[in-house]
Amino acid sequence: MSKRFLDQLVTIVGPQAILTQAEAMAPHLIDWRGRYRGDALAVVKPNSTEQVAAIVKLCAETRTAIVPQGGNTSLCGGSVPAEKSNAVVLNLTRMNKVRAIDLHNNTITVEAGCVLAQLQQVAQENDRLFPLNLAAEGSCTIGGNLSTNAGGTAVLRYGNTRELTLGLEVVLPDGQTWSGLRGLRKDNTGYDLKQLFIGAEGTLGIITAAVLKLFPQPKSSGTAFVGVTSPSQALALLNQLRANCAERLTGFELISRLCLDFVLRHIPNTHDPLTVAYPWYVLVELSESASALDAGELLEQELAIALEQSRAVDAVVAKSSAQSQALWAMRENISEAQRFEGASIKHDVSVPISAIALFVTQASAALAAAVEGIRIVAFGHMGDGNLHFNVSRPLALSDAEFFAQAHRLNGIVYDLVHSLGGSISAEHGLGQLKREEITRYKSSLELDLMRSIKRAWDPLNIMNPGKVI
Ligand code: FAD
Repeated sequence: MSKRFLDQLVTIVGPQAILTQAEAMAPHLIDWRGRYRGDALAVVKPNSTEQVAAIVKLCAETRTAIVPQGGNTSLCGGSVPAEKSNAVVLNLTRMNKVRAIDLHNNTITVEAGCVLAQLQQVAQENDRLFPLNLAAEGSCTIGGNLSTNAGGTAVLRYGNTRELTLGLEVVLPDGQTWSGLRGLRKDNTGYDLKQLFIGAEGTLGIITAAVLKLFPQPKSSGTAFVGVTSPSQALALLNQLRANCAERLTGFELISRLCLDFVLRHIPNTHDPLTVAYPWYVLVELSESASALDAGELLEQELAIALEQSRAVDAVVAKSSAQSQALWAMRENISEAQRFEGASIKHDVSVPISAIALFVTQASAALAAAVEGIRIVAFGHMGDGNLHFNVSRPLALSDAEFFAQAHRLNGIVYDLVHSLGGSISAEHGLGQLKREEITRYKSSLELDLMRSIKRAWDPLNIMNPGKVI
């Protein structure tokens, strides 16, 4: 690529906001898990929608691929370019302003590079809740959350990112800006265009800002770590809590004992929440926005019923917010802890909630038969039917030997998921990781419809090529 192209980029963003040296670009070219390392001409960090539009226009004129990037926490290689690529990485993290808060409308308008934790903080300072929660919240950005339709630990009550979004501003692949920053809860004026950008993983345009919903702050909450004998028992507990607590049930996370062992082994200052080890655990969160009812007390009552009626075998309820955070830390550090155990193959899958127990039993048996000593690291958002059914390498195998079996192991898990009416990507997206695999599980009609949208909106195929489809 010509020096002139780079000079034009410098003219748009200024010399401080463009990286071209290998060392400076390196953190932007490798994914969070260290599995995908790509190449790029430059990493550019615009600070306004106008700058994004000018960069995209220049890239369209020169047929240069663009890889949008937020916090680069994608777990499927979505936010880094391919090897030997001449792409430009368009990193949005300098676009991190809160543009407006409307407390009567309960909405906040933020730029795409705003870090999720920062947005949660601003909502809290305004006595509101922005309810998207995920373990990467200290680094992931709202643009990345929107582009992956991120889920997290409170979907059960508040829905995923799609359900939290009212409006978007997007720079289209030809450099035009679509301003759809509407804060409306009702707007039936034809196709709802924003829905196509949500979950598109940067393949249809660059999200530069969004109008998001705010909610009342919970007045009380309750957190418990519950020992259960099996996913079936966890399902019985889930049904009880749903029936008796309704929308107050905010989180219901299933955790296997091996997950807990990994966290206790590798994450400092963590302690086993219960004195006896159980094969499975559930982390339960209730929250209540009205002051008349105490969610902590309700949780205690419900757990007493569950223990009496064999829907749980043991439980501890947090007595303070510090204890609650310590319990959540057990859940949120599982991915981090698993990194210390060598190569892992991750399956972010969903099945109907009613099929979770069957899925766990059958998938565990099939994987154990396929690779001796395989370690199944199963955890996730059971209340949404979404499990992270990950596997760590057997101690006897090297990372390379284990990765060599990835395709076969993925087939075992995904075929079973598919036969149960599930999805091979519940919340992380497809990225590079599942781009080929998805073609086995979506109908050719569905794939054709997706391709025709991509062709119509990005005819030059410059937006995050090699991802999704
Ligand atoms: P990136 O990783 O930078 O990008 C993700 C995708 O979005 C890429 O395809 C990228 O090209 C595109 N993109 C980024 N910004 C834009 C933009 N402005 N416009 C257009 N496209 C863009 N995910 C969940 O859903 N639930 C979880 O519970 C969860 N837990 C996680 C825990 C850990 C420890 C980690 C590391 C990740 C977890 N993730 C989870 C995955 C990840 O954090 C989410 O996918 C997150 O939404 C990505 O945000 P990001 O800013 O890091 O985006």
